[in-house]
Amino acid sequence: MSISQLAREIKESPTLVMNEKARLLREKGEKVIHLGAGEPKDKVPIEAVLGASAKLTTADVRYTPTEGIPTLIKAVIRYTEENYNKIVGPENVIVSNGAKHSLYNLMMAIINPQDEVIILAPYWVSYPEIVKMVYGIPVIVTPEDGRFQPRMEDITEKVGSYTKAIIVNSPNNPSGVVYSADFIAELVEFCEKRGIYLIMDDIYHKLIFDGKKAPSVYQFSRDDSDSSHIVVINGVSKVYAMTGFRVGWAIANRQLTAAMINIQAQNSSCTSVIVQAAAAGALMGVQSSVESMRMTLQNNRDVMLNELNAFTGIKTVKPDGTFYCLPDFRAYSKDSVGLSKFLLEKALVVTVPGVEFGMEGHLRLSYCGSIKEIMEGVARIKWALDPESPNEIYIGDRKLRRDWK
Ligand code: PMP
Repeated sequence: MSISQLAREIKESPTLVMNEKARLLREKGEKVIHLGAGEPKDKVPIEAVLGASAKLTTADVRYTPTEGIPTLIKAVIRYTEENYNKIVGPENVIVSNGAKHSLYNLMMAIINPQDEVIILAPYWVSYPEIVKMVYGIPVIVTPEDGRFQPRMEDITEKVGSYTKAIIVNSPNNPSGVVYSADFIAELVEFCEKRGIYLIMDDIYHKLIFDGKKAPSVYQFSRDDSDSSHIVVINGVSKVYAMTGFRVGWAIANRQLTAAMINIQAQNSSCTSVIVQAAAAGALMGVQSSVESMRMTLQNNRDVMLNELNAFTGIKTVKPDGTFYCLPDFRAYSKDSVGLSKFLLEKALVVTVPGVEFGMEGHLRLSYCGSIKEIMEGVARIKWALDPESPNEIYIGDRKLRRDWK
């Protein structure tokens, strides 16, 4: 069988292998704790459910305009005005099958082979692969050790004549860090001056703690023209706990939006009208579920940090948003894939290896599960790694003894 070079170059995700292993263990009745999840377990807003079911019961389910149904486009325009104080028109919006699909359309619309895209580590695992899928070159910028905030000078050092875009994700998956307003301001100014696309992946923008606000790229933009280089990516997956619906959108200048619509017309035609109706329902409905999820996540973050801070061997940068943190486990192992496998085998805890996010020696831990899972998960990790911790632990009604060093 002949497989394309491109297909061979796309990395297989160790996370998927680990998730499969965890599933098999669970099937065998093992008490696996999942600290690897990338989705909140909250219920979907009722308006989303009603929107989708109302459409379905018409039994009239057809293609929609490529860019999305007018009610959802209007809802996105309103959302953008309410949350960002930014007025955009329907010619600036395209709805796709999840933010990931929005990013694909965008990359196809702007990248020529060999163009470079700057990606700030730690980064969402899919960015480098998406860039490679359109024959672009991902250029990784890594922050100083111990920090997850990139510095402007490290970015400018990597910018050259092939640089087409910079992708920014704040609040950040996997670190939970929110980039400072000064940094975002500098980045916007730099990109606008140099004519480089600034892609802001805002998928977690409302999941932010302690009364803080994520600085928006629009706050600092001076170019309000029809050739603005700012693109904002967003969606309902995280903020509305609607990962399974697959709805995301991009906001961009008119010409770029038209190019993305052309591309989408050939790669998926449109997003299903049923899930578009659901997304419109979520955006236009009562927003209290977002705030209640945000508060739960903040509390979970506090519990997770408390547990981790009592674990002297590891260092954790406090997350200001999302439902992830990225503790530094280098005191125990510099090989995050090996460590993650070890923790699954010995302690039955799923974690995500930092190397996937460009941060070797770290593990991403999610706190979108229950308090019990967070506390027990960290306790098991501590038991498995810290020789100072008691050497026996109960997993369910099974007593385990640490017999390794
Ligand atoms: N961007 C980031 C930073 C993410 O973490 C995710 C989901 N893990 C996405 C985009 C994709 O979201 P969607 O489900 O809308 O495709």
